[in-house]
Amino acid sequence: MTQENSKNSDSGECFKCKGAEGFFYKVDGAEYWQDCECVINRRTERLIQASHITDSFRQMGFDNFDWKTGPVIVKQAFATAYKYAKEFNTIRQQRSNGLCLLGKPGAGKTHLLMATANKLLSDGIEVVYFPWVEGCADLKSNFDSLADKIHRLQTVEVLYIDDLFKGRDKPTDFQREQIFGIINYRYLNRLPIMVSSEWTIAQMCVFDEAVGSRINEMCREYKVMLDEEGLNYRLRDEV
Ligand SMILES: [Zn+2]
Repeated sequence: MTQENSKNSDSGECFKCKGAEGFFYKVDGAEYWQDCECVINRRTERLIQASHITDSFRQMGFDNFDWKTGPVIVKQAFATAYKYAKEFNTIRQQRSNGLCLLGKPGAGKTHLLMATANKLLSDGIEVVYFPWVEGCADLKSNFDSLADKIHRLQTVEVLYIDDLFKGRDKPTDFQREQIFGIINYRYLNRLPIMVSSEWTIAQMCVFDEAVGSRINEMCREYKVMLDEEGLNYRLRDEV
């Protein structure tokens, strides 16, 4: 919306900076540069394009997530994700700097992690969305580009893995090899991850001990389990 405001409708040139892309300003005699909002908007737009987050997912925010009527555990998940998004620049310095929402489908895990990703993107932080099933299929589809894609997933500022280990079957050797390469790199370099999964950490460790234990350590402080008992709590509460 701000992008519209700063754009001249005729030439496409920004009417605020007239193409200069920013402004000098003085404080106590010293001169500083400030990027124009058109530059910031273009940067955000590039981050969004690179994130693989689709338009419908872009609509998911904290303000359109209904946590007030949900079970206590959903409120807790909301509060955890909200805090993570808001304090990310402090949290990313910490040893445990990941966010992990686990448990039943339909409890809002994807919405909350998308809201977090969208907030980070709008703050100029690079996020890549990696939906487990589609992402793994994409990696496997072209071995020539595999190394480049893995490198991107290893080094992006924030990696969001949606529905890790989804499916009734055990992950394949190919999937395990790739996910270990990604998670271990990020673990060693203290790079943040966001993870959603239907599985508990213990179940992940059955699939792959090394991956499960690293995720547990990386997300220790910001991890919520939306299990059956927690999700049924509201029902008991209301009767
Ligand atoms: Zn401008």
